[in-house]
Amino acid sequence: EFIQANIMPGSKVRYFSTHKAAVGAMFLDEMQEDRKTLPIFPYRERLLDAITEHQVLVIEGETGSGKTTQIPQYLHEAGYSKVGKIGCTQPRRVAAMSVAARVAQEMGVKLGHEVGYSIRFEDCTSDTTIIKYMTDGMLLREFLSEPDLASYSVMMVDEAHERTLSTDILFGLVKDITRFRPEIKLLISSATLDAGKFSDYFDGAPIFRIPGRRFPVDILYTKAPEADYLEAATVTVLQIHVTQPPGDILVFFTGQEEIEAAEEILKHRTRGLGSKIAEMIICPIYANLPSDMQAKIFEETPEGARKVVLATNIAETSLTIDGIKYVIDPGFCKQKSYSPRTGMESLIITPVSKAAAQQRAGRAGRTSAGKCFRLYTAWSFQNEMDDNTVPEIQRTNLGNVVLMLKSLGINDLINFDFMDPPPAETLLRALEQLYALGALNDRGELTKLGRRMAEFPLDPMLSKMLVVSDKYLCSEEIVTICAMLSVGNSIFYRPKDKQVHADNARMNFHAGNVGDHLALLKVYDQWKETNFSTQWCYENYIQVRSMKRARDIRDQLEGLLERVEIEPTSNPSDLEGIKKAITSGYFYHTAKLQKNGSYRTIKNPQTVSIHPSSGLSQVLPRWVVYHELVLTTKEYMRQVIEIKPDWLVEIAPHYYKLKDVEDAGAHKMPKGKGKATID
Ligand code: ADP
Ligand code: MG
Repeated sequence: EFIQANIMPGSKVRYFSTHKAAVGAMFLDEMQEDRKTLPIFPYRERLLDAITEHQVLVIEGETGSGKTTQIPQYLHEAGYSKVGKIGCTQPRRVAAMSVAARVAQEMGVKLGHEVGYSIRFEDCTSDTTIIKYMTDGMLLREFLSEPDLASYSVMMVDEAHERTLSTDILFGLVKDITRFRPEIKLLISSATLDAGKFSDYFDGAPIFRIPGRRFPVDILYTKAPEADYLEAATVTVLQIHVTQPPGDILVFFTGQEEIEAAEEILKHRTRGLGSKIAEMIICPIYANLPSDMQAKIFEETPEGARKVVLATNIAETSLTIDGIKYVIDPGFCKQKSYSPRTGMESLIITPVSKAAAQQRAGRAGRTSAGKCFRLYTAWSFQNEMDDNTVPEIQRTNLGNVVLMLKSLGINDLINFDFMDPPPAETLLRALEQLYALGALNDRGELTKLGRRMAEFPLDPMLSKMLVVSDKYLCSEEIVTICAMLSVGNSIFYRPKDKQVHADNARMNFHAGNVGDHLALLKVYDQWKETNFSTQWCYENYIQVRSMKRARDIRDQLEGLLERVEIEPTSNPSDLEGIKKAITSGYFYHTAKLQKNGSYRTIKNPQTVSIHPSSGLSQVLPRWVVYHELVLTTKEYMRQVIEIKPDWLVEIAPHYYKLKDVEDAGAHKMPKGKGKATID
């Protein structure tokens, strides 16, 4: 019988203190003993023998068996690091950072020295680094400077089952390398999924299986579908907390916003209940969580307390948290979706696959028997969920990857050795887009502009806007805007009890309805004027951490601009120039106001709206360029500026003709009025 929602229990909610556990020699011994208890340890010698014998090895093992943290260390201990670096890719940046930190600890070295990591905009490695964890995207970029991976003796493509776009492209590239570098070792490791498929792809490479230890997990379903899984999940947490024996809880959410909402609800419902109930320790984990807080999910739960980990699907296979006995699975995740027909990409909350649901449940049975509460019905598991997640390559825009492959000299993309090829239409669409951006010529070859764009670890549209900022004499402004956009939607914060103040502070940056990109520029410039003051951030409801990250990203982008020989230019008062530079990258993302206050995208018409968080959401300009689309209750455009339609023909003559931007019979919209008759 699954959970009755009639008890409203309470407990103390506590957060881990920020003290850093010092790892002294004492801990080191203990850690070395711990390493020997991992399921992979008994297979150490056999594994090393198999690697000696075979150039390519597929390794399959239950999540948490020790693949990611142990195999690179075994290789190092066996001497591979004397010949070259040991590389290990991860699909997620949090995993790369966290695992590197753990391995550095186990080896008793300082992170960034012998053991380091490299993620976009953050290189924590040095000349002494011999074990290097990195995101799959970063390894792809390394191919641009080192196409044969000469500095590596072993490359481990980890979490291969995740089938991210970058991992899928890496498969083709590393497979090629094994042909002309017979001495390099290649390991493809994954959770217990798809090993056969990997082996087939890598010309029948042997599969090394690490038997996992698994305790039984009871799976419970809801009797009826849940209308609000966030509510259902938090109620379930509280129910488990009061009715179930000790053991930590892991809840899967789709993203930071949900996690923060759940945290808020749990705090609220347990407030004031003091010692009536056991202590509850809430630990959020998601990609943008600051790294000092990421470490906390691994701290041991004190006697008598219960840890509740609120995670994205990062905890599905990438990170293993010991002590989890209860898993709550609402059955959703955030996924990219792409329509080659309209050329639109958006993030959508979608049901997980059966395979993902099984992985999630498995997290409850690692150290003892556990329970998994599925917030959906057994019927919907059987009948509504796909067996496997569709590989990202089949549901994403390929502009980035095509630009990268072209710069690696791989021209024949149709015949690239894909494990699962992308739809031909998607490839064509990417080529078309790069052509319209001016990155490829009409023979599909990389242009000088394209070559410069490929230098940036950014989406081609962002790279384009950076490179052309030169022409509009505003590279300083555009590089700031790029950095701010790259931080994501975490610049402004809005505490529950001070929403009005926060909104007012935010609107100050929007004075003159300059548009969201320019508001972000203003935020950065004002912060800079205060000498990067933290106090200023507090007063303006700005997240200081996000700003610091923006500053780091900005510094790096500036360095890259120098590499492509773009001089710093600045003209803060020329808003039109700045907006034109933005439009040069984003002319694809143009929409026009309709009579009913919604918008229609110009080519491949689709109805969209301005996101309520935008400074222009009440202003409703006639023509806008947007940064991204997010699908929640509707398709929303996030980060919007107003443009003049004739810019489109001027800037992107390949793409827009006069007839696309003509406003036959249009009435002029009165300035400053929200509503106007148009068309
Ligand atoms: P796999 O890659 O096979 O899923 P891992 O090597 O990631 O397994 O995990 C092995 C063990 O190391 C697990 O018990 C996990 O909890 C622990 N571990 C991994 N990262 C950390 C970390 N940052 N802090 C503490 N323990 C960790
Ligand atoms: Mg792993």
